[in-house]
Amino acid sequence: VGEALDRLVEALGDLARPAHPIGELTTYRVGGPAAVYAEPDTEPALVRVVEAVSGTDVDVLVLGNGSNLLVADRGFEGLALKLGDSFSSIRIDGTTVAAGAGALLPVVARRTAAEGLTGFEWAVGVPGSIGGAVRMNAGGHGSEMAGSLRRVRVVDLHTGEDGVMEADRLDLAYRHSAIAPDQLVLDATIELEHGERARAEQEIAGIVRWRRENQPGGANAGSVFTNPPDDSAGRLIDAAGCKGLRWGSAEVSPKHANFIQADAGGRAADVLGLMAEVRRRVAESSGVWLVPETRFAGFTRAELAELGVGVGP
Ligand SMILES: Cc1cc2nc3c(=O)[nH]c(=O)nc-3n(C[C@H](O)[C@H](O)[C@H](O)COP(=O)(O)OP(=O)(O)OC[C@H]3O[C@@H](n4cnc5c(N)ncnc54)[C@H](O)[C@@H]3O)c2cc1C
Repeated sequence: VGEALDRLVEALGDLARPAHPIGELTTYRVGGPAAVYAEPDTEPALVRVVEAVSGTDVDVLVLGNGSNLLVADRGFEGLALKLGDSFSSIRIDGTTVAAGAGALLPVVARRTAAEGLTGFEWAVGVPGSIGGAVRMNAGGHGSEMAGSLRRVRVVDLHTGEDGVMEADRLDLAYRHSAIAPDQLVLDATIELEHGERARAEQEIAGIVRWRRENQPGGANAGSVFTNPPDDSAGRLIDAAGCKGLRWGSAEVSPKHANFIQADAGGRAADVLGLMAEVRRRVAESSGVWLVPETRFAGFTRAELAELGVGVGP
């Protein structure tokens, strides 16, 4: 791994940032560095990164806004890649929205509402990027990305293949898509409907209020576990008596049982340990093994085994 990473650093030249802290690029604000980090801010720079990575067997971690990601304390032994600000453009043409993968959902929600479009208001409460939202098929308030997503531009970081994928080929399901860890979403085309600006903005204000009243603040990554069919992970965790449960520097939110809050300067190992403990207690009290919604980077197979998930973001 070391040699391949050395060659990658050399090929990246001034784009490579070795041993760059990435835990702080996540909303949990815990976890260590990436062996190599790059943040290309132009198409030519991105092409250089893709050329440097393709053909190597270096692990890649695509970072969006880090709002659904737990990075191990030891960090990530590969290349972490985040798109620079210039990949955050939002272009609106009639009811069609072309958004760069770096655009944040709340910004897209407010922009489209201000243009008198309806159908994306739900996204105002999800603090992720368009790229992360496509990968996760993010959703809320009865809607999800799949409802309005038409197509995405995707670059395969290991083959260099760059192409457009129609939404019906993305296998979008509840918090699931066919986007693989080494596929980088570059932009998304979203189709909305004409509506009334005042009405859309009122809906946005209502969602913001609901979130403020029902969700905790602090360093968290939203829902920790997906909802099992016909039930809610939060209800099951609450019923297992886990609200307020503490594991070192991590705590199950006393306000919303499916949120974990990390202390400032806390450890990813504590967040992971608490997830495993909550999962055990819920299985004991209700027989349901919860499935994490959170994505993991830098953990070993053995560490993740207790959560029933594989390695890889
Ligand atoms: C307070 C709070 C509330 C939340 N509420 C909701 C909610 O209501 N509904 C919901 O669905 N989620 C919610 N989330 C979780 C999170 O915001 C979403 O999952 C979001 O889509 C993650 O986007 P991100 O850009 O932060 O992705 P990251 O956390 O950076 O990454 C998540 C996954 O997407 C991949 N990824 C990121 N960018 C790209 C890209 N450009 N191309 C390919 N893959 C990429 C990563 O590799 C990783 O596998 C919440 C989180 C917080 C902190």
